[in-house]
Amino acid sequence: MDIVKFLKINNIKATAQRVVIAELLYNHRHLNIDEIYKRTVKQFPTISLSTVYKNVNTMLELGILQELTVPNQKPRYELNESAHAHLICTTCGKIKDIDMDTDKVLNALDLNIEKRDDLKVEELSISLFVKNIKDHDNCCAFNTK
Ligand SMILES: [Zn+2]
Ligand SMILES: [Zn+2]
Repeated sequence: MDIVKFLKINNIKATAQRVVIAELLYNHRHLNIDEIYKRTVKQFPTISLSTVYKNVNTMLELGILQELTVPNQKPRYELNESAHAHLICTTCGKIKDIDMDTDKVLNALDLNIEKRDDLKVEELSISLFVKNIKDHDNCCAFNTK
């Protein structure tokens, strides 16, 4: 994936710092701000946590990044590429992306929101919290099939 192009398509100035952050989140999904900072500082030794935070927030506001909230954890971030749901292990906190058909989910909810002209769905966020009650060693792999 061409990160610079991705940022430009989304009308965001591709500064070196933003490219590094976006690349990070492309290669490692669901990082929190400390993890992003730890890895960014390797390439920009003088960068501060607040600068990383500012960049992440700007990219969030512009819709380049998505925030994932997990109870009792710091927010996690990922590139806003395609809609998906999350499968989260309540034992170890591991997160897996699950394909999601947004239209199907909206239809199943039967709220007819898409037919209303006063409401717009801005975000659809689904997190499924699971616990392997038989064998946690297998839960991290999320063998769902
Ligand atoms: Zn995800
Ligand atoms: Zn687990």
